[in-house]
Amino acid sequence: MGIYSLAERWSIIDRCESKLALGESLDDLDYVQLVQCVNVSTMGDKLEDFYAISSNMRDNPRCAARQKCADSVCPHCFVRREARKVSLFKALSVNYRIFNTFDIPEKYWAILPIPSINGNVRIESHGDTGSALHAVNYIRIVKAHKNLHFTAWSKNGMDWAPAFGQEGKPKNLTFVWSSILLNVVDMPKETINGYAFAKYVDHVFTVFDKSIAVEKGLFINCGQYTPTYEKVSHKCRNCMRCYWVPGRRRKKGKGYIRNLEVLGLEDKGADFYIFELRK
Ligand code: SF4
Repeated sequence: MGIYSLAERWSIIDRCESKLALGESLDDLDYVQLVQCVNVSTMGDKLEDFYAISSNMRDNPRCAARQKCADSVCPHCFVRREARKVSLFKALSVNYRIFNTFDIPEKYWAILPIPSINGNVRIESHGDTGSALHAVNYIRIVKAHKNLHFTAWSKNGMDWAPAFGQEGKPKNLTFVWSSILLNVVDMPKETINGYAFAKYVDHVFTVFDKSIAVEKGLFINCGQYTPTYEKVSHKCRNCMRCYWVPGRRRKKGKGYIRNLEVLGLEDKGADFYIFELRK
């Protein structure tokens, strides 16, 4: 949870926000302390053996709006079922404010301690970006930790496209474009607001209802399922299709061509479409 108490972290944020509001620049100590306030989470369940850098979806107005949309996957977000993790969500609120408020140079992100068991770190496990600055800070974290591989999930291309335009896409970052709607593969646009986007997308991740999967005979390649769609295993560490593994090729999305054919979609290449069953 870092070297500062929660109250100390908000005090540091308040002090730095006040300086910016007065038109003052942040100094070395400000940036160092802000980075020291960031929480890196130990993950469990599906993401056992992973660490994640994330924000709190409850602070994100886009997440709130999508959760009111019945066709969206967001009302089914697993994070809503984790309401009892109060201290985690408080720490992730600190992250959200820092990532969306402060333009922190890459050299300061290098001091953020990021543990890893398998060399992979998840970006966004409990929320999504709130702005292009949020995505810029993530990309700088990735650049500052070249010994690790990061995989970012997002529904907010409007943040990531300008961030990639500004910062480029480091080799140690995989970007997963997460479909907003249930049962609809969200093909990435070539450009968003004039910024290139599709070329930066490594995977498109889409959640399907079991009834649709059964009706169309979809191959669910996120987790392991029996032919009747009963779950066998659902841990990323046993799959790693979305992640880069040092010394290993990514696993190809077996069955994806059949999925694209039955959904009437164009094949844009192997290892691109991930289908998950809604829990
Ligand atoms: S496809 Fe595999 S690595 Fe990707 S989210 Fe699903 S279980 Fe995890």
